[in-house]
Amino acid sequence: MAQGSLFIVSAPSGAGKTSLVRALMERMDGLAFSISHTTRAMRPGEQDGRDYHFVTVETFEAMIGRGEFLEHARVFDNYYGTARSAVEAQLARGEDVFLDIDWQGARQVREQLPQAQSIFILPPSRAALESRLQGRGQDGPEVIARRMRDAVSEAAHYDEYDYLIINDDFDAALGELGAIVTAARLRRPRQAGRHAGMIADLLAPAG
Ligand code: 5GP
Repeated sequence: MAQGSLFIVSAPSGAGKTSLVRALMERMDGLAFSISHTTRAMRPGEQDGRDYHFVTVETFEAMIGRGEFLEHARVFDNYYGTARSAVEAQLARGEDVFLDIDWQGARQVREQLPQAQSIFILPPSRAALESRLQGRGQDGPEVIARRMRDAVSEAAHYDEYDYLIINDDFDAALGELGAIVTAARLRRPRQAGRHAGMIADLLAPAG
């Protein structure tokens, strides 16, 4: 079976990346989401093994020592990483795998797997980003200012990516994300593998 494709998706927080990737998973078959390991605390509503594998710093560092991560990085004072074995198994099953990782992780994955395709998602304007980062109005101005600084420093890396999606209209952005996956699936080597029998039959000498 043909290997699946690997898609790296990064965005500043507030760009709508997680909602877009989740919505795409529901609408398209054959997609897998890589569940990262992290040392950050679980947030309300999150579930271990679904949103992340929540582990201690000791466990995370032991995994680094054993070379178990395809990539790992410190993001906002916590460790985040993608376990190599899980992603390799998903790709081998022919699934298209999404990695929701930051720009540091994206660089590491590109170095090891240059065929990975990378997508960056930006909000439609600075004002839209600011209003999305205000959250529910429960945070003070310093917290919001810090979030804005972090978001802008992530956004500055948009030019390292293959694709750029502006998430102004959610459904339009979702359609664009799906189009990137569809195009990868239509590439000739994958299509030729999937339809090998039909193509052999089609090209058999007449008579
Ligand atoms: P959050 O803590 O809000 O879930 O995620 C914070 C940031 O960490 C996001 O930008 C997200 O893309 C990034 N992130 C999540 N998982 C990984 C990972 O496995 N590796 C890397 N490098 N970044 C990750």
